[in-house]
Amino acid sequence: MTPVLVINSGSSSFKYQLIDMDTESTLASGLVERIGGGFGEGVARHTVHAAALAAPDGPAPTVVDATTTRELPIPDHTAGFRVMLDAFSSDGPSLDEHPPIAVGHRVVHGGARFFEPTVITPLVEAAIDDLGVLAPLHNPANLEGIRAAERAFPDAPHVAVFDTAFHQTLAPEAYTYAIDAEVAAAHRIRRYGFHGTSHKFVSEEAAAFLGRPLESLKQIVFHLGNGASVTAIDGGRSVETSMGFTPLEGLMMGTRSGDIDPAVLIHLARRAGMTIDDLDDLLNKRSGFLGMAGSNDLRDVRAAIAQGDERAILAFEVYVHRLRAYAGAYLAQLGGVDVISFTAGIGENAPLVRSHALQTLGFAGIEIDPERNLAAARGIRVISTDASAVTVLVVPTDEELEIARQTLSVARGTVE
Ligand code: ADP
Repeated sequence: MTPVLVINSGSSSFKYQLIDMDTESTLASGLVERIGGGFGEGVARHTVHAAALAAPDGPAPTVVDATTTRELPIPDHTAGFRVMLDAFSSDGPSLDEHPPIAVGHRVVHGGARFFEPTVITPLVEAAIDDLGVLAPLHNPANLEGIRAAERAFPDAPHVAVFDTAFHQTLAPEAYTYAIDAEVAAAHRIRRYGFHGTSHKFVSEEAAAFLGRPLESLKQIVFHLGNGASVTAIDGGRSVETSMGFTPLEGLMMGTRSGDIDPAVLIHLARRAGMTIDDLDDLLNKRSGFLGMAGSNDLRDVRAAIAQGDERAILAFEVYVHRLRAYAGAYLAQLGGVDVISFTAGIGENAPLVRSHALQTLGFAGIEIDPERNLAAARGIRVISTDASAVTVLVVPTDEELEIARQTLSVARGTVE
């Protein structure tokens, strides 16, 4: 067994997964939330997965995914990790018998500095802290999780896996904004791109599924969850991506506007008296599906469309209009495409979004098979017709597994 622990830490919560890398199956997962003084009781949920209960080569286990919940005060992340360790001790699997050989941490912003998974040292922590200027909601919270995890697992190597790292292959013409160069340099203003762990994972899974070398493929990956981004990938390298300096740019999302003329902000500040915080709130939290149709969840929007709700219909039309615009743009940037993949909550579960996104691209040899698209299947699958020149796939993403893979490769000193 080769267990790797993956940590995704937020400011008042963290998620974890213990994955056996021999089989790439999850042994245990959990969520510790409501961390901090202001919440009263904290909550810790710990799930032992079937894979942890199955004896090697033995019969399939009868207990599947048993979850226990604990409620107790959790004043800080260090206390949260103690609660997690207690849950492992009492519910299993035993970390004494199978200690994690490495701990992988999701870190949102690696700036222009981190282009691959990196063993965490005091210098790396200082750099993550410094990059908090660019990701004030995320990097400090990621760092808190790292420090608490280091106390809980002092003997294991800790590895940072950055959401931005995969996009460090963007060429200057793709990442540079056309603004005053000195202002841009002084404030590190450029496109960084996000969701990199997912885009990397999906593009590699797609190549493996098709049995074709990653290096030979031009790919477009649509990651459509609550946050949404699309990436053009040439030979395994990200060459264009829709999120920019922050995750606000690009596609319309659950609560974010995506692309907007920046002069709208200037106008609203001057004419509507909106402050910087008002504008931040408007574009990041009150726009997208939520702002246009009243819910950030596509399932609600779909139900409203079925009732003939015109706001919901318009929100959907705007959403797919933009997907098409990006598909076309990335087709042009790549000079053609071999594979288009859809992933994340919407990409994996909304056939109507997939078909509308590619509807007008028949001229480019892109043809979705309506039956394959609608089939209620799970797992990686083809949804294009056999005659389609471009293969269209649905690829379930698994960011934790990708973090574990990258963590293991660094821990073994074999990072490519
Ligand atoms: P996050 O970005 O928060 O990780 P997810 O990838 O889990 O988000 O995607 C969440 C979104 O996926 C939901 O807000 C919802 O709009 C959409 N979604 C999830 N399941 C379905 C479904 N069965 N049908 C349509 N949309 C779905």
